[in-house]
Amino acid sequence: MARAALRGGLSVAVARRWLEARVVDARAETPTARTLVLDVPGWPGHLPGQHLTVRLTSPDGYSAQRSYSIATPDSGARVELTVQLVPEGEVSEFLVTGVQVGDAFEVRGPVGGWFVWRAEDPAPLLLVAGGSGIVPLMAVVREHRRLLAPQPLELVVSVRSPEDLYYAGELAGLPGVTVVHTRRAPEGSGRPPARLSAPELAAVVARLPEQPRAYVCGPTGFVEAVADALVALGLDPAEVRTERFGPS
Ligand SMILES: Cc1cc2nc3c(=O)[nH]c(=O)nc-3n(C[C@H](O)[C@H](O)[C@H](O)COP(=O)(O)OP(=O)(O)OC[C@H]3O[C@@H](n4cnc5c(N)ncnc54)[C@H](O)[C@@H]3O)c2cc1C
Repeated sequence: MARAALRGGLSVAVARRWLEARVVDARAETPTARTLVLDVPGWPGHLPGQHLTVRLTSPDGYSAQRSYSIATPDSGARVELTVQLVPEGEVSEFLVTGVQVGDAFEVRGPVGGWFVWRAEDPAPLLLVAGGSGIVPLMAVVREHRRLLAPQPLELVVSVRSPEDLYYAGELAGLPGVTVVHTRRAPEGSGRPPARLSAPELAAVVARLPEQPRAYVCGPTGFVEAVADALVALGLDPAEVRTERFGPS
């Protein structure tokens, strides 16, 4: 086990070698996304916001590696991922439609020292997700709830249509959650489908008592647009942490 230095002088344990991850449960999150519950003996633990590397190897030795965010706070050997099916995607297709409970693949990590949340950080939290970008932010939300943390928290999630919202049942009961639909809004919604706008972001920021630390995650274009809008609203760029998922 190695230690990885983080900004601020802290460090976390990192598994130097590949570990076997066995799928112990799997559930559909949306019609095109699936949550995998993994048992990873030897997992060194992680912070909310970190990701891991998945390595798949075929019998002929060909292997592919991809990054996946961890959806849950640290809970020993149990690690949850939520994977969005990318059309014609090599690894996501296997993880969403191919792998079965009982199967195993390799993982290594955790990875990431900047896009992390530490509960001792007193800053209010502004979390902004586009599509599958909610995965690492959900780890923050879950840790925040588990600890009954005092920091005010606002979560904004942008999805195309109601069916595309991950963790819908869990989010439905939570305060401080704003869901924005870009293509089709739920029946009776007062908001016509549209991209998340700067005034909408401003309204969420205004609900927080002081300058928040922002975590923005999703496809590259979404992340850039939101980060620019937050800086234009007066947030210190150093307080806007970003994680980009898709191809740049
Ligand atoms: C730090 C980090 C964390 C991530 N966390 C998650 C996560 O929690 N859940 C998750 O589902 N994904 C996550 N991703 C994306 C993931 O790593 C893969 O890129 C994604 O699953 C596609 O891999 P693939 O092998 O299926 O597609 P590939 O075979 O690599 O690509 C197939 C085609 O799709 C395009 N493509 C690749 N990725 C995307 C994408 N994300 N959106 C649209 N088009 C794409 C490619 O350009 C290519 O044309 C994360 C990425 C990073 C960098």
